[in-house]
Amino acid sequence: MITIALSKGRIFEETLPLLAAAGVVPSEDPESSRKLIIGTNRDDVRLIIVRATDVPTYVQYGAADLGIAGKDVLLEHGGAGLYQPLDLEIAKCKLMVAVREGYDYEGAVKQGARLRVATKYTHSAQEHFAAKGVHVDLIKLYGSMELAPLVGLADAIVDLVSTGGTLKANKLVAVEHIRDISSRLVVNQAALKLKHDRIQPMLDAFAATVAANA
Ligand code: ATP
Ligand code: MG
Repeated sequence: MITIALSKGRIFEETLPLLAAAGVVPSEDPESSRKLIIGTNRDDVRLIIVRATDVPTYVQYGAADLGIAGKDVLLEHGGAGLYQPLDLEIAKCKLMVAVREGYDYEGAVKQGARLRVATKYTHSAQEHFAAKGVHVDLIKLYGSMELAPLVGLADAIVDLVSTGGTLKANKLVAVEHIRDISSRLVVNQAALKLKHDRIQPMLDAFAATVAANA
């Protein structure tokens, strides 16, 4: 059996064509089904539906052979035990620093102010501000980061931005681009050796589809 860990929502939607190219069609839609283990047209392939941040953990421990996770999530996880052979070029967005409209971010940085930064991405944020030599107090949040500057919890946030619509709706502006984000295929290193004859053709099919879409 090959087990693939996926999260619901945009990653699942954008993964469907890649799975199809590898000859895998889910037998149920996880958005409407409450099942967490979803069969496919192939009796040797199943999908497990987990939180986006939990995908690397399932693959690291071998509970899933493969998974698809955002680079944002992989940077926080650290990637131990994971082979990351392929950028799938899906779920693209940017990791950015954002502040309230009118907040003088550059001025605060120049003055050497200590910034309070709210984020789910503490590892990436830590690295970014350390590299710039900016002192920060990181405040860990698990969602709705946009709220933090509006109610005085933080001076800035580090969050994912795609269209910028959510920032705009909350009167925030992006002031720094940290890195581009997309989703990656992750593979359990032991599974790749033990099930190479079944996993490698899937990796090849994914890679061919990514190349064809480029
Ligand atoms: P949960 O909603 O369960 O807390 P989550 O917010 O991490 O988890 P999603 O919002 O579906 O789940 O995000 C999953 C992944 O999709 C992220 O890890 C990121 O790589 C990518 N992603 C997040 N936001 C965007 C976006 N606005 N545009 C494109 N990709 C995004
Ligand atoms: Mg979400």
